[in-house]
Amino acid sequence: MDTADLRINPDRLRADFDDLSAIGATAEGGVTRLALSNEDLEARAWFANRIEDAGLVLRDDAIGNTSGILVMTQSAADPSFLVGSHLDSSLNSGRFDGAVGICAGLECLRTIREAGLRLPVNLEVISFTDQEGAWQSMLGSRGLTGRLGDLTAHRDAETIGAFRAALFRTGIIVNDLHEMYQAARPPEQVAGYLELHIEQGSRLYRSGKRLASVDGVVGRTTYLITFLGEASHSGTTDFDMRRDALRGAAAFITEAHDTIYLDFPGGMFNCGKIKVEPGVFNTIPAKAAVLCEVRHADEATLMTMEQHLLALAGRYAGRYNLDVQDKRVQHMPAAEMSPRIMQAISDACAGLCLPSPEVLTSYAGHDAQILAPFTETGMIFIPSINGISHNPNEDSRWEDVVLGANVLLHALIRAAGGSL
Ligand SMILES: [Zn+2]
Repeated sequence: MDTADLRINPDRLRADFDDLSAIGATAEGGVTRLALSNEDLEARAWFANRIEDAGLVLRDDAIGNTSGILVMTQSAADPSFLVGSHLDSSLNSGRFDGAVGICAGLECLRTIREAGLRLPVNLEVISFTDQEGAWQSMLGSRGLTGRLGDLTAHRDAETIGAFRAALFRTGIIVNDLHEMYQAARPPEQVAGYLELHIEQGSRLYRSGKRLASVDGVVGRTTYLITFLGEASHSGTTDFDMRRDALRGAAAFITEAHDTIYLDFPGGMFNCGKIKVEPGVFNTIPAKAAVLCEVRHADEATLMTMEQHLLALAGRYAGRYNLDVQDKRVQHMPAAEMSPRIMQAISDACAGLCLPSPEVLTSYAGHDAQILAPFTETGMIFIPSINGISHNPNEDSRWEDVVLGANVLLHALIRAAGGSL
C-alpha cells in the first residue's frame, strides 16, 4: 500500500477509547482518574497491556511516565520521537481530555508497525504523569525535560509524605523525592513531540473547522494577594472606621477583570479562591487572601499585566486603608510550537485532502508547553462541542477524533523524517 493511503483503524481506536472511558467512570458519564489514584493505576495497567499487545517495547521512568516504543533503529534506547498526552483526569471530568491523545498515539504506532514503515528514528507513545496537577501540574513532562524545580518548595512534611506514599503505590519507590530527577532525558534523546488534544474551548467549534494546529500555549502566572485589615464588631464599627480586607479584595477582583478584558486583548484573568479570616458573619474581615491567575500568549505582555495587577492591588489597599502582600506562587512561561512541526501538520492535512488547519493559541496548559523549549513540538486540536471541558458533559464528534488521529499519523510520519 502507498504510505499516503495509510489510515488508522477507527474501530480499534474506538474500542480503546471506550475501554479507557470505563476506568474511573462516574455516574454523570465522565471520568475521575486523579493522578496516582487507584483509577490512574488501573489506567496505567490497561495502557501497559495495550502497549505489549501492540508489540511495542514497554518503558517507564523514575517519575512514572509510561510509554511504548516502536523500535525503528538498532535499539529501544536510541532517541525517539514522542507522541502522546495523559491518562489522568481532573475530578469528575470528561472522557476526551488526554484520552484522545493517548488512544490516537497508540493507534498511530500500531498502524505504522503493521504497514512495515521504516523511519530514521524510534517512535514512542507516552503518557505523562499528573498533567492535571492532582499533586503537581505536568509533573511527568517536567521530570522528563529536567525542569522539575524544587519538589518540596511551599509544601509541608505531611503533603510530601502523602505524595511519596502515592508514588509508592504506582511502584515509584522514592526514598528521597530527588530520585525522581533521574527521569530527565538528555535533549538529544528526544527527536520531537506531537500531541493530539481536544481544544477545551469553543473557538474551533464555533468556527466550523474540524482541526487546528496550535502555534503556542499561553504563559500563566498565579499570585497570592493578601489584603490585611483589622477585625472588629460589624454592628458597632462605623463604615468610615473599618479596615475591611474583603471589601478591598472584592473591589480589586472586579476591577482586575475589567482592566484585563479592556486593556489587554488576548489576556485572561481569574480569581478562583478567597480565604477570609476570621470568617465570621458578624466580624469585619481582617484578612482576605486572593489566589488569582493571569494568562497571555506573549511573555512580555504577561509581565506588564502582572505589574498592572499588583499596582491595582496596592491602589485598592490604599483606598480601604489596608496593607497588602503579594507572592508569585507559580509561573509557567508561554511556549511557541515549532514551525517545522506546524508545517508537518499542514502538509499532513494537504496530503489527506483536508482544508488547511485553523491556527490557534492554546489557553489551557498542556505537556506540549513543557516539551516546547526542550524539543521540536507541535499540537493538534479537534473541536470540543460547545467548548465544554473538565466536565462530564465534555464531548467531541467521533468523526473529528478519527480525523485528528489520521492527521496525527501523517504529521508524525513527516515530522519523524518519513516520506509520504
Ligand atoms: Zn489534557
